Amino acid sequence: MTTKKTQRKKELITSPKGMRDILGDKYFKFQGFFEKAQEISTYYGFKPIEMPILEKREVFTTTIGLGTDIVDKEMYTLRTKSGDRLALRPEGTAPSIRAYLEDGMISWPQPVMLYYYGPFFRHDSPQRGRYRQFYQFGLEIIGSEKSISDAMIIRTTTIILEEAGAKNLTVDINSIGDKECRPQYVRELISYYKKYINQVCPTCRQRIKENPLRVLDCKDPKCAEIKEGAPDAISYLCDGCKDHFKEVLEYLEEMKIPYRLNKNLVRGLSYYTRTVFEVFENEETTEGIFPLSIAAGGRYDYLAKLLHGKRDISAVGVSIGVDRVVESNWYAGLAPKILKKPKIYFVQLGFDAKLKSLNIIEMLRKAKVPVLQALSKDSLGTQLSIAEKTGIPYVIIFGQKEAIESSVIVRDMNTRSQETVKIDKLLEYLKKLK
Ligand SMILES: [Zn+2]
Ligand SMILES: [Zn+2]
Repeated sequence: MTTKKTQRKKELITSPKGMRDILGDKYFKFQGFFEKAQEISTYYGFKPIEMPILEKREVFTTTIGLGTDIVDKEMYTLRTKSGDRLALRPEGTAPSIRAYLEDGMISWPQPVMLYYYGPFFRHDSPQRGRYRQFYQFGLEIIGSEKSISDAMIIRTTTIILEEAGAKNLTVDINSIGDKECRPQYVRELISYYKKYINQVCPTCRQRIKENPLRVLDCKDPKCAEIKEGAPDAISYLCDGCKDHFKEVLEYLEEMKIPYRLNKNLVRGLSYYTRTVFEVFENEETTEGIFPLSIAAGGRYDYLAKLLHGKRDISAVGVSIGVDRVVESNWYAGLAPKILKKPKIYFVQLGFDAKLKSLNIIEMLRKAKVPVLQALSKDSLGTQLSIAEKTGIPYVIIFGQKEAIESSVIVRDMNTRSQETVKIDKLLEYLKKLK
């Protein structure tokens, strides 16, 4: 019975599968990335938006579409006590359009450029760099059908990733057409697959009925050869789509962004039109080069109409998988701005000194002097040995005598020399130290 009880207690202190605490250095790595990504996005004219973690379930089911893994298998849904059906957001694009429509951004100067970041949720099988609660940084340009918007989304993404330490990025890109030309292509794809219907895997058989483009997503080796011979979307593009795609590629060439045409890239979500892309970092290890997908996106001109039933609103966006960036071996370990390298270790001794310690530390904070301390410790030896380990260049010692005389001892940890300084002269004194 005791073991059962212990077992249950142990389960209580384990976070749900695929979800984890982020703390210490890891936390700062995330924060550093988000700060850098925000800074770059702001330079390019993107504006921040914070959206709810929960949305009405239909925001996703009507836009991402049935026959996709996200909606069919991976979405966390719940019914509230009052009967509303909500979903933990599995992605940020559909909510962005919901916000654009709800907040009247349609009457702002177009296009509206948004960035956002935070946790997203998908109930899939956790593996390296993949979690059920994961972190994305997203960019959307809403209200522009121009190819330069596609290029700008891709450009901003590669800059953010390069600044985060990526050295070997490639962009896989494809065009899946629009409502002019895609129906013809999908018909060709279906009739091609029908010839092999008894040879392809059950998933492909299912997909050809429900969401035909997704057969090209199949990773089953026995479908590989059939997939290879499948008609490609680019050959079926109408003139408008062809020109759009050609221009996007020209922009990429002009900006020297390495890309690869990938005719099997369809990004299974129903709302995509024309450009779809995926960004890979080609990680070099001793066993070879491993391309790791770290960002993906595309154009979604028909999403708005699926939500509000009115006219189409052209838009394009991307989401960056931040967990993968932060956990990669190439991540630059960006440090957040709030993290300052401490210059002073503050040591106190005796109750009278402890009493006044917080005032001195506050005086230093106001003067922007970063301080470390161990105020909960009493022994001088303990505090000094902590100071020694941290390698901080200066120690302030504040004892009983100093508390009475309103002074402190400043010790240079390198030279071991020390000086008594009046508290009202302390800031001035510290300024002179390098
Ligand atoms: Zn298959
Ligand atoms: Zn077209």
